[in-house]
Amino acid sequence: MRLGLTAALAAILLFLTGAAFAQSTPDAAPTSPVAVGSLAPVPSPQAGFDAVKATNAYLAQVHGEARARSDEYFEGGYVLIVVDAVYAVIVSAIILWLGLSARMRDFAERIVRIRFWQVPLYVIPYTILVGAMTFPLTVYKDFIREHHFGLSNQNFMQWFGDFGIAFAVNLVAVTIVATIIYAVIRRAPRTWWIWGTLVSVAFLTVFVMIAPVFVAPLFNHYQPLKEGPLKSEILSIARSEGIPANNVYEYDASRQSKIVSANVSGLWGTTRISMNDNLLNRCTHDEIIAVLGHEMGHYVLSHVAILITWDGLLLLVGFAFANWGFKGLVAVFGQSWKVRGIDDPAGLPVLMAVASVFFLLATPVSNTITRTIEAQADIFGVNAVREPDGFAKATLMLSEYRKLDPTPLEEFVFYDHPSGRSRISMMMRWKAEHLNDWDIKNGPVSPK
Ligand SMILES: [Zn+2]
Repeated sequence: MRLGLTAALAAILLFLTGAAFAQSTPDAAPTSPVAVGSLAPVPSPQAGFDAVKATNAYLAQVHGEARARSDEYFEGGYVLIVVDAVYAVIVSAIILWLGLSARMRDFAERIVRIRFWQVPLYVIPYTILVGAMTFPLTVYKDFIREHHFGLSNQNFMQWFGDFGIAFAVNLVAVTIVATIIYAVIRRAPRTWWIWGTLVSVAFLTVFVMIAPVFVAPLFNHYQPLKEGPLKSEILSIARSEGIPANNVYEYDASRQSKIVSANVSGLWGTTRISMNDNLLNRCTHDEIIAVLGHEMGHYVLSHVAILITWDGLLLLVGFAFANWGFKGLVAVFGQSWKVRGIDDPAGLPVLMAVASVFFLLATPVSNTITRTIEAQADIFGVNAVREPDGFAKATLMLSEYRKLDPTPLEEFVFYDHPSGRSRISMMMRWKAEHLNDWDIKNGPVSPK
């Protein structure tokens, strides 16, 4: 459950926070003054525009050392996906073979007699133990490596503070979900994986609804964006797209990193548009508007609901796989591990190990789900705000942590967002078809 849910939560959170726009070099592309448009059909000054050449010219702006570091950082992530899963299996194996799992269960049984309450009494020490055992890998992945590539703005204590908060939130979430799922398992030991999926999806939905209001402010300070032309323009675009937001917020993501991001979150009266200070400080007007067009696309196209639905289906298969793997493994090793059956919380590490193998194998599936909706938001954004060059430039900023130009197979397996090449070619393809529109014709001059 923890890994399954964590994978799904991670996908949702990644998506909610946009996880989208980081900057490598300040943008210095020339822009032409915007002329007052004329409806008369004048010949396009960009008649020789070629979408493929324009894409290549954009990509060529990130070269040499910057390109090599970007590729190295992102390709290191491929290895980490596998390392994570193998590490999770090893941690489970240690906990089971040393008899720690059975001992934690025996401890829970000594304290309370009601089976419902034995589960949280097992899950809390179990989660802390796993957190401690995976801590070295976490420090490497989230602190040392991020610093090595210059992506973090935090010292160790600041990072550790955020880690502690995230761990506490995770501990509460995992304990609640696991306790409910074990109650489901006791009632329906054969079909628990179906009902367990429904419970997880319900929990995920609640979490996604409350996270922007209760969880996000634990990590960052949110305040209304100061009044001005930018705020009025953003709210005007939101109104035109039917987004019921009446305020725009700014948050201090620069306390963690340089990553440029924004999101549209909330439901039923709490809808709000949030943009981080990196986006405001490091991007031009056109780039900011282009990024917000993308984020509004997620809202208008109901991507949260779609993502929860797809992740729910993936979770269903994952739970079925975990159930099957559990039975096979416990039939052979159950006695050595002192795990009695599927309803015994001491078997949780077995479910976790099988689930981490499943989610490793399902990486291309979960990535394709998010990558597809991200591409939809890209095309929605450019249609809504008509800033193909702004979006292309913002995309180049991602090159700091996302390889710009992968092979199609690499993109299919490892990319949770479209690659820089895919996104920029989408923008240039759009632009090629809108060259004679007055705003595009008179807009910023992009590479040919
Ligand atoms: Zn997005």
